[in-house]
Amino acid sequence: MAADTTRARFGHRPQVAFFDFACCEGCQLSVLQLEEKLLEILEHVDVVTWREAMSEHSNEYDIAFCEGSITREEDVRRIKRIRQEAEILVTLGSCASGGCHNELKNKWSMDEMLELVYGDHADSIETGPSRPISAVVPVDYRTYGCPVSLPEFVSVIKHILTGQQYEPPNQPVCVECKLNDHLCVLEKGEVCLGPVTRCGCGAICTAYGEPCQGCRGLMDSANVGAMLKALTREQAHAIVRRVVEGHRLSESDIMDRLRVYNNWQELTPEEGAADDE
Ligand code: SF4
Ligand code: SF4
Ligand code: SF4
Repeated sequence: MAADTTRARFGHRPQVAFFDFACCEGCQLSVLQLEEKLLEILEHVDVVTWREAMSEHSNEYDIAFCEGSITREEDVRRIKRIRQEAEILVTLGSCASGGCHNELKNKWSMDEMLELVYGDHADSIETGPSRPISAVVPVDYRTYGCPVSLPEFVSVIKHILTGQQYEPPNQPVCVECKLNDHLCVLEKGEVCLGPVTRCGCGAICTAYGEPCQGCRGLMDSANVGAMLKALTREQAHAIVRRVVEGHRLSESDIMDRLRVYNNWQELTPEEGAADDE
């Protein structure tokens, strides 16, 4: 990393803070697991606030990494204050950047959801519909994944310190799957959400023979309808036919899988659906 460029941008070693909102905090934990790479990053920045890793705290920082979803009025006030204080705000992981499974609760009314989860204690819990941070304040850089894809986290840090913008990749996981020569799990008759999911994780799941569950969220212009048709139609080429016969899932079952990580956007499978041939 170029220390001169960093100093020119911030005028000093940049001060970094980590914040969490509604989430499991697994993204912060993953960043801690960078170990030696983290030590290398720490040669270029001063971490001044990171509740999961240290007891010191400061309200003066240049770069804020924010994890989790916004669910309460208090969260809205807090993220707006962080936005004002930070020169650069980075969303950490899919809860913060695009939704993730926190938004599953939005399918129920809040009263119903509170009773389902907290029973007799529902009255003492303050919560509301869940939103990604990117839906509440402007964001400078986004990282995706549940947990966050660490190569993307490191890449974003490098982009910030060298004064470059970072555009998350906007291709399907299938691209990285093919680039890395992974066997397509469709051949095992499994449903894989890679064709509509934003790549950038190196297709790590399919590397181990597991289907993509869509944790990095939908890529822009994902053709969900075409994927559903391909995975459920009976008139299909041999591989897809094996999938259809193997999984026996309906379009609605596959949509339910897709919604685990994609509840913030309204999914409209009809749009852009491939024509029946
Ligand atoms: S994106 Fe996943 S790992 Fe990260 S905080 Fe949210 S739920 Fe946890
Ligand atoms: S395994 Fe999944 S991500 Fe990889 S090529 Fe097949 S459908 Fe695409
Ligand atoms: S392969 Fe899919 S589920 Fe696995 S890390 Fe990548 S985007 Fe997430």
